[in-house]
Amino acid sequence: MSESKMDIDLLKTIALKVHENVSPLMGTKEGAEELERGAGGDITMKIDTVAETTIIGELERNRIDLLLISEEVGHKYVGNKEKAQKKKSKLIVDPIDGSTNSSRGIPFYSVSLAYAEGDSLNDIQTAVILDLSTKDIYWAKRGSGAYHNGDNIAVSERGLSDQLIFEIDFYLWNLRKKLKLYRSLLAKLYRVRVMGSVALSLCLVAEGGLDGYVDFRKGIRLVDIAAGYLMVKEAGGKILNINGKELEHELSKDFLMPLVVCNSNSELEQFLKNILHKNTQ
Ligand SMILES: [Mg+2]
Repeated sequence: MSESKMDIDLLKTIALKVHENVSPLMGTKEGAEELERGAGGDITMKIDTVAETTIIGELERNRIDLLLISEEVGHKYVGNKEKAQKKKSKLIVDPIDGSTNSSRGIPFYSVSLAYAEGDSLNDIQTAVILDLSTKDIYWAKRGSGAYHNGDNIAVSERGLSDQLIFEIDFYLWNLRKKLKLYRSLLAKLYRVRVMGSVALSLCLVAEGGLDGYVDFRKGIRLVDIAAGYLMVKEAGGKILNINGKELEHELSKDFLMPLVVCNSNSELEQFLKNILHKNTQ
């Protein structure tokens, strides 16, 4: 049996298969049925399991050897473990990013797939994020740009004197404290949104609808951002950690950190870095 390649077309095929299999469950009681707590710490719903099982099934059917890092199963080798280890091939997956939205019929949830050969975020080669409500497909290939369906996309260039729209995610229990801490940032924004699927929000940053994304929850996981990371980078955006440095991290499910994403405007980037630097002193 010849080996299949884990290329962008296969990632797209897998994402579309997830869409096909979860469609009957979207917004239904059955889809929202709670099973157990997944490796990522959130309650697993039936729709999450169906999506993840679909992905594993497609990988096996195509005889792909890799380490799967996924929200529900955690770390799991698919295919030949030795081959996967030798090539350091990894697929980082959030089977459904925005399960709560899907269970409530809020049309903002996605499947997020990122393929890497190596051990760090920089080693991500290809990424696909499929909007499961609209079937819009976002994809990126390292060194070849980011795309929405067939169109090349780029982050916005809006700066501090423009009407900036950011998504900002806070924990509700420390909302007041965080609002105080980051009031200088909030004062520069025109609108703030909180939408519930980080992967899709990063696509919106990548195509310039959102000018930035900030998550101060300390709860963002690798599976949430792996595909979006490449999408934003290939679209010309910046991804910073809480200290204002370029985000770099090994590919492990234990990744858990706040992050700040912005467009290509260097004045805005510097402004964000100054706030982050000041607040982490
Ligand atoms: Mg999920």
